[in-house]
Amino acid sequence: MHDAEGTARIVVNNGERVIDAPRARPLLFNLMAERIFIPSACGGRASCGQCRVRITAGADTNVPEERGILSTEEMGRGVHLACQTKGYRELHVQLPAGYLQARQYSCRVRAIRDPAPGMREVDLAVDAAGLQFIAGQYVQFVVPGTEHDAEPVYRAYSIASPPSCSQSMTLLVALVSGGACTPYVFERLRPGDAVFVNGPFGGFVVHPGSRELLFIAGGSGIAPVRAMLLDLAERGDSRRATFFYSARTAADLVYRADMEQLAARLPGFRFVPVLSHPKPGHAWSGEVGGMPAALARLLPRLDHHEAYLCGGPGMIDASIGALVSRGLDPNLIFFDKFS
Ligand SMILES: Cc1cc2nc3c(=O)[nH]c(=O)nc-3n(C[C@H](O)[C@H](O)[C@H](O)COP(=O)(O)OP(=O)(O)OC[C@H]3O[C@@H](n4cnc5c(N)ncnc54)[C@H](O)[C@@H]3O)c2cc1C
Repeated sequence: MHDAEGTARIVVNNGERVIDAPRARPLLFNLMAERIFIPSACGGRASCGQCRVRITAGADTNVPEERGILSTEEMGRGVHLACQTKGYRELHVQLPAGYLQARQYSCRVRAIRDPAPGMREVDLAVDAAGLQFIAGQYVQFVVPGTEHDAEPVYRAYSIASPPSCSQSMTLLVALVSGGACTPYVFERLRPGDAVFVNGPFGGFVVHPGSRELLFIAGGSGIAPVRAMLLDLAERGDSRRATFFYSARTAADLVYRADMEQLAARLPGFRFVPVLSHPKPGHAWSGEVGGMPAALARLLPRLDHHEAYLCGGPGMIDASIGALVSRGLDPNLIFFDKFS
């Protein structure tokens, strides 16, 4: 009866939730419509791979888009991409308990400022309940549907403010021209607007321990690192830490003043900005060049360190190479790629 009417049944966690939903709509969006928010950073394009779910019955096992992303071992365990799972009649899904806890937050834009060219900081007041998260996690920002396309668009943004501010949240958004979300943020979003975010999501968080911390970020990749550093400082964590931050020019160094203040306050913290294209004629006595080259030049042997990287995939992959060549155990390298 469900399929005759174009609907299907989704049975979550052995009946904890039972949902009737349109057959044609991907599982990711059918779950979202029922306020079950599972991680998804690319908004349904099968590129981020974060919406992995285990399906115990009813899924199509021959989805070409999944093959490039899921390992053979995952496919053998019934793992699928929720964004590519559609056309089912009755689907049995096993979700981790944490996924049922992520929720949608209604927020109001408190302030907007542009800390660097093509970079926008959006300060959100979070609804009454406040948002509990761990520094380094991200939310999905919801771009409302339009008259041309009724479906909302979801994009991931790391929270740039520390978890101590649960009633507010800062996002740092780099403009991608032609994109679905960032032009909306730059051209349409205004102070006072109501917006929704889903979350929190992600496991890019500082692990407890005593190792020296290396943070490496490029551009808007500073967002989760700022949250992590402010959180470590607020909690009085005394681990030594160095933050390498790359930008094109000095004007593109977002949160430079924050980082310099932290370095002045915390004896164990060092901030190393690296400019790839410093403006000729502008005074700059700091590091110049690409991040991997700067790391190769500046890093000691990394026997007692762990590293946290965030930004574009190219910078991250090349920097990981530099870290490993300095002796860092790959299991102690953690990253969020903004792709
Ligand atoms: C876990 C996670 C956290 C993230 N946190 C942040 C954050 O804090 N701040 C932030 O600015 N971004 C962040 N991103 C990236 C963000 O989710 C979007 O991908 C990005 O803002 C582009 O969205 P869009 O809708 O404007 O462009 P889209 O419509 O997604 O893309 C339009 C076109 O641009 C290309 N494109 C997408 N992103 C980029 C890029 N960065 N550079 C160049 N080309 C691109 C696409 O391939 C596509 O062809 C994060 C991504 C992930 C996975």
